[in-house]
Amino acid sequence: MVYTLPKLDYSFDALEPSIDALTMEIHYAKHHQAYIDNLNKALADFPDLAEKTLEELIGDLESVSEKIRAAVRNHGGGHYNHSLFWKVMTADEKLRSYESKNLRIIAEINKVFGDMAKFKEQFSAAAMGRFGSGWAWLVVDVSGQLSVVSTANQDTPLSEGKKPLLGLDVWEHAYYLRYQNHRKDYVDAWWSVVNWAEVEKNFG
Ligand code: MN
Repeated sequence: MVYTLPKLDYSFDALEPSIDALTMEIHYAKHHQAYIDNLNKALADFPDLAEKTLEELIGDLESVSEKIRAAVRNHGGGHYNHSLFWKVMTADEKLRSYESKNLRIIAEINKVFGDMAKFKEQFSAAAMGRFGSGWAWLVVDVSGQLSVVSTANQDTPLSEGKKPLLGLDVWEHAYYLRYQNHRKDYVDAWWSVVNWAEVEKNFG
């Protein structure tokens, strides 16, 4: 299969002021597109691998030929991570709010982390603690246990057998135009655009 850029559910300026329109446009149309182009290029000579789903490929990198394993890890991971990232953000206030909604994921977060403030603190610490480029995640493992993790580069929690529910891109390309070196301001501002309805859907 040939991978293509998934449609954005909102306009480039929809997440202002948390994420500026120019960053959204470059991030989506240039960075994400490049991961897709490079993934397609890597898979072009491996038709048997091209039949698998992206989740199957990055969930079992050992099964991918060594010749393109790094490319699938980096560019397949990049495609997977960004596809999730666009979905877990929204311009719709109704989807952003989680108070008085009885979402299962919020109840579970409260149970595991204590409360939303403590969860956000832990997640933000993972985002701030990632040296260089990478991601912060809320994941669920096969036993149903929630945890906060961080991955380097475009590595995904899927490769460690964990399903990502919520992810935050902390590569500089995700925030540098507006926030320069102030990653913390970006992380703090990002919470207000999280699509909790989507996180609930990912929780299943
Ligand atoms: Mn990115």
